Amino acid sequence: MKILGVETSCDETSAAVIDGNQVLANVISSQEIHNQFGGVVPELASRAHIRLIIPIVEKALEQADLTLDGIDGFAVTYGPGLVGALLVGLNFVKGLALATGKPFIGVNHMEGHIYGNILSQEQIQFPIVFLIVSGGHTQLVLMEDHLKYRIIGQTRDDAVGEAFDKGAKLLGLGYPGGPLIDRLAREGDDSYYRFPRAMLKDNPFDFSYSGLKTALLVFLQKLSEKEKEEHLKDICASYQKAAVEPLIIKTINAAKEFGARQVAIAGGVAANSLLRTWLKQACDENGFAFYLPEFAYCTDNAAMIARAGLEYLRRGQKSPLTLNAYPALKLAGKIGATQ
Ligand code: ATP
Ligand code: MG
Ligand code: FE
Repeated sequence: MKILGVETSCDETSAAVIDGNQVLANVISSQEIHNQFGGVVPELASRAHIRLIIPIVEKALEQADLTLDGIDGFAVTYGPGLVGALLVGLNFVKGLALATGKPFIGVNHMEGHIYGNILSQEQIQFPIVFLIVSGGHTQLVLMEDHLKYRIIGQTRDDAVGEAFDKGAKLLGLGYPGGPLIDRLAREGDDSYYRFPRAMLKDNPFDFSYSGLKTALLVFLQKLSEKEKEEHLKDICASYQKAAVEPLIIKTINAAKEFGARQVAIAGGVAANSLLRTWLKQACDENGFAFYLPEFAYCTDNAAMIARAGLEYLRRGQKSPLTLNAYPALKLAGKIGATQ
């Protein structure tokens, strides 16, 4: 089954064509206009999607060496995300479905991130604990089968990706901050300073990241400009370790608690080198299989949306043309047709 996927939930305009687990094209345009503002400006994102959507979809079809005739169905993100940005992709795909008479399915963006990992695997086994770590989400999800999600923990405040981005901003680095901190941390001493780790008692699988960036702010205020400069890599390494450690501990504990012998990571922060190596090691020690996504499918892309859509479409499920965009769409229960 060949699926054309479209993703416009935030600041990446992306279109992809997949044939089963095979990616024929995955075109991503990251809007650079937001870099000067240190974060995404919603209005500008919507306008950029409008400008980019047609050329990006055309490019994906061209790379896949297909026309719309060769596509069996469409998949598009309908939430969570910026409403104006989501509407661009959603309405565009509705137009394609209407014009071709082929089915389309709305996909939850977080479910897309999960299938970005599954897309990287030949085979995946259930039950599996998924750690979803991205710019807006930090969640532990138990999957007992395809398309079945149970949220067992999540952040109460900031997402871990946000902690990376806000931390990078405080350190005077660029945006997005995750890859920059990751790179600098590799050459730093992670025992330079011990930042706090929030371990919540009432739900041991929940996360909290707002305290970490505040701790960084307070710590930086105590340093001279010279110290900041000299120890930038050490600060990055210490900060990154404090951000990643709770992810490791809670993910392993969740797999033990829920009897899952498989563990996987998904979302933009799944590209983080410390998270990847540390969790792999912890899984090896506990005898769990560990599924790593390819870098290309960690941050926002349409291949992951197409791959999730394929699971619905191959079961004959599709969305109505009246489907709306939902900025705060939750990952739970039956997803796809309605909120
Ligand atoms: P959401 O998926 O929750 O809607 P989003 O789509 O904006 O949010 P993603 O594209 O999945 O988020 O991920 C972007 C985030 O990943 C950013 O916060 C970025 O800093 C972070 N990130 C990317 N690469 C790395 C890395 N190597 N280390 C740490 N964080 C990273
Ligand atoms: Mg982005
Ligand atoms: Fe995302």
